[in-house]
Amino acid sequence: MTEWTIKDAEDLYRIPYWGDGYFGIGEGGKLLALPDVDKRESPIALQDVVEELREQNVQFPVVMRFHDILKNRVCQLNEAFGAAIADFDYDAPYRGVYPIKVNQMREVVVEIVEAGRPFHYGLEAGSKPELMAVLTYDTSDEALTICNGYKDEEFMRLALLGRKLGRKVVVVIEEFSEIDSLLRLAAEMDVRPIIGLRIKMRVKTEGRWSESSGTRAKFGLTISEILNAITLIQERGYGDTIQMLHFHVGSQLSDIRFVREAIQEAARIYARLAKRGIPLEYLDIGGGLAVDYDGSKSSNHSSMNYSIRDYANGVVFGVKQVCDLEGVPHPTLVSESGRAVSAHHSCVIVEVMGEISNFAHPVASDAVEGENILVTNMQNLLAELAEERNYQDVYSDATLLFHDIFAAFKLGIVTLEELARSETLYWKIVSSISLALESEEFVPEDLREVRASVQSQYLCNFSLFQSAADVWAIQQVLPVVPIARLNEAPSQNCTLADITCDSDGRVIEFIGSSGSNPTLPLHDLVANERYYVGLFLTGAYQDVMGDTHNLFGRVNEVHIFCDTEDPAGFFIEEFVPGSSAGQVLSVMQYNPELMAAQVKSKIDSAVASGSLRSREGVKLVDFYESCLGGYTYLRQSV
Ligand SMILES: *Cc1c(COP(=O)(O)O)cnc(C)c1O
Repeated sequence: MTEWTIKDAEDLYRIPYWGDGYFGIGEGGKLLALPDVDKRESPIALQDVVEELREQNVQFPVVMRFHDILKNRVCQLNEAFGAAIADFDYDAPYRGVYPIKVNQMREVVVEIVEAGRPFHYGLEAGSKPELMAVLTYDTSDEALTICNGYKDEEFMRLALLGRKLGRKVVVVIEEFSEIDSLLRLAAEMDVRPIIGLRIKMRVKTEGRWSESSGTRAKFGLTISEILNAITLIQERGYGDTIQMLHFHVGSQLSDIRFVREAIQEAARIYARLAKRGIPLEYLDIGGGLAVDYDGSKSSNHSSMNYSIRDYANGVVFGVKQVCDLEGVPHPTLVSESGRAVSAHHSCVIVEVMGEISNFAHPVASDAVEGENILVTNMQNLLAELAEERNYQDVYSDATLLFHDIFAAFKLGIVTLEELARSETLYWKIVSSISLALESEEFVPEDLREVRASVQSQYLCNFSLFQSAADVWAIQQVLPVVPIARLNEAPSQNCTLADITCDSDGRVIEFIGSSGSNPTLPLHDLVANERYYVGLFLTGAYQDVMGDTHNLFGRVNEVHIFCDTEDPAGFFIEEFVPGSSAGQVLSVMQYNPELMAAQVKSKIDSAVASGSLRSREGVKLVDFYESCLGGYTYLRQSV
């Protein structure tokens, strides 16, 4: 066997493929974040961050946010469009917006706004509360504020309030009836709106969000509606305010073909409307720029077959060609790329609490005088394995025999001890076969389940429903990597189980070199040594969509910045505590103070009745109260 190298670990966990240059492996096998891809001299070892957090008694799981990655993403996107515009002699700028629904965390949006200011990067809101948040940010004067989603009068008044403050707030008409109320309110508030019209696109995309386009899409105006809308708006004296054409054909567009097709359709509609004298200044191409979660650079739904630069080139060139053919001016290009901006900057670090295994606690299985013949037969099968008997034979004999032993137990013929011995023997047989199979090149179909049945489940202190909802909801595949010991060959094929009481709170699909794998190789757990794994690319949607299933609340968060002066290369600027048990319970209409009082009164009566000593009673009351103020996840005893 050749020696295990860092390169082997990089390939196994596919770090260079999904990591986009932001992650790597350093000395001593530590996983590194390289937030500034261009300056590779300022790496941050995730294990070092974990150690600093442990010194400060921060409990896990923890979300780590790398602000420098976020900045870098904003720059990459804007620079890609800038470069494409220069290369193709495109006549108008790019004015992207960040849709905050992808991650509304204040610190995240603040960072994006800061990084985006030189590019006049703006924000997008899809609901009233999102618009309320967006209106508080100081984007550049040139930047756009775009309002999508169905709107009531209050939503529109908020948008018009933004206009009064001098912001370029665009109200995108998603549905015909919105026009009348918008114009009425604009007249009432005496302010000129900026109107965008959302096209119901015909292009049919593939993937999880394919319903966002096509005739049955939820949002947007048909071509007839667009023409009627324009007439209506013009008749009411607002023709000059129709400045944007908008579309959004779905998220995570894995295949660039759909981007091209959508651009062709929308650019042609833009051009024909521009020719009719509609003063359209902006063409907004919505979201959809994908993230290569599995690193396969393919059109898999968890991947993408193009780069950000290819995307920008495709858009700029596609729009330019149609406009030049039609002889209309090039519109300012807007995209609402969310996932691609925020996915990379955050990861969830979870601690493995232990292993759930069928053979972790065996009983002594040596033969016993006078034991049932069936148990002896199982002993013999195990012995036969040493004699190079056909694995397939032994496996099917053992499985059948174990079945018979269980039937005999149910009939009262086999004792509980004999059943336990048989169970231990059976798992010894299965695990020996599985071990032997590891060196085999070809594994017959019937033996594949052997491998599956011996894989370890590592129990991780987190809730999938809170921290990686899409893994559960839409079978999203996320990269999972241990943050240390990457200089050691992993020895266990694992799946991950979370601590919720649900069997589907598990990760059972992992990225692999050819498609996805049912297990992930991880290291043996060493007694008294903590083992952490990271779930990566969780910054888009996952961070904010989680729910409090089982009342596991929001996770502790740390905000990390690069610092070349610092010996460890980083500093933690902010610690945002996750939810306490009391906070999560309050959302469910419990009153933590009242709860404490209720438990105290029960303890008091136990003391009064003499079943509890007063001193102990006081301690229990304090303990209950401290739990209410504490973290919802498992506390690791030292
Ligand atoms: C969700 C959404 C986006 C963001 O899409 P991404 O694929 O994350 O970039 C943009 N625009 C609209 C209208 C959306 O609904």
